[in-house]
Amino acid sequence: MTISVVVPLYNEERNVAPLVERIVAIVERLPDRPAYEIVLVNDGSSDGTLAAVREELKRRTNLVLVNLSRNFGHQLAATAGLELATGDPVVLMDGDLQDPPELIADFVEKYRQGYDVVYAVRRTRKGESAFKIFTARLFYRAIKRLTNVAIPVDTGDFRLMSRRVVEALRRSPERHRFLRGMVSWVGFNQTGVEYDRDERNAGETKYPLPKMIRFAVDGITSFSDIPLRFAAYFGFAVSAIAFVYAMVVIVAKLFRVNPPAYTPGWASTIVAVVFLGGVQLISLGIIGEYLGRIYDQVKGRPLYLVSDIERS
Ligand code: UDP
Ligand code: MG
Repeated sequence: MTISVVVPLYNEERNVAPLVERIVAIVERLPDRPAYEIVLVNDGSSDGTLAAVREELKRRTNLVLVNLSRNFGHQLAATAGLELATGDPVVLMDGDLQDPPELIADFVEKYRQGYDVVYAVRRTRKGESAFKIFTARLFYRAIKRLTNVAIPVDTGDFRLMSRRVVEALRRSPERHRFLRGMVSWVGFNQTGVEYDRDERNAGETKYPLPKMIRFAVDGITSFSDIPLRFAAYFGFAVSAIAFVYAMVVIVAKLFRVNPPAYTPGWASTIVAVVFLGGVQLISLGIIGEYLGRIYDQVKGRPLYLVSDIERS
């Protein structure tokens, strides 16, 4: 058994050394002392991350540096690492030490019991704003309701995967990747272990609100067409109301029921125009979200580009 640990890094210069230190400490203490490799993906960092990783390569063996040509984003950097990892199993984790490397021991124990995927479930989250915790909880529950893939709640990308799961991901060429959903979609035997999510060791989050929203939309559009159907249902509902109202107007006209004293038809016309305009724009926006993703996908560009790979 060779275990690979994959870590995407974007501007994590002060986290690289303690991260590698803690991963090595736990992996070298695993029962039966499996061979290992630590795949560090530099996702176009603009700080000293690359130098910090090279420093570690000089000091230690079993490290692999994957240097991407620019910043491709967390999910694609993770994908690059997963595709270049050679081990079985493969562990994916964040580089800011919010995912405690010590949990790898629990993952491996479950893996040896025959599980293909062992994901880490966040019991608590430390050092994150009440807003982030609330929106994250909301998001995981919303996506559970919207999709027909059983994506576990409060679970990030910190997980162990067997070789066949990693191979399944490699065969999935989708661009707007929501890895945690894709792993659920793969199937096989999956289980979770609970943990308390630590604070970020150093640096700051790479997921400010706009990126969080984009990631959430990626997750929903990748796994659900309910928003599209919602647009259609809404259209039917509005048409039904309009039909009833039309009947009322016609009947009133035929039987000469007197209209109210103000300018006849003004309020109802404005309400109808504004309301229908809003519904149409929302529906167009939803269609646009899906269309943009289809466009990105059919261009068929590579998901990421590797600048160089170095091993120690
Ligand atoms: N990351 C990356 N590329 C990016 C953004 C983030 O490789 O464009 C990495 C980052 O270095 C970290 C992981 O993805 O190892 C998770 O990011 P972060 O900790 O900022 O997310 P949060 O924990 O705040 O949700
Ligand atoms: Mg983090």
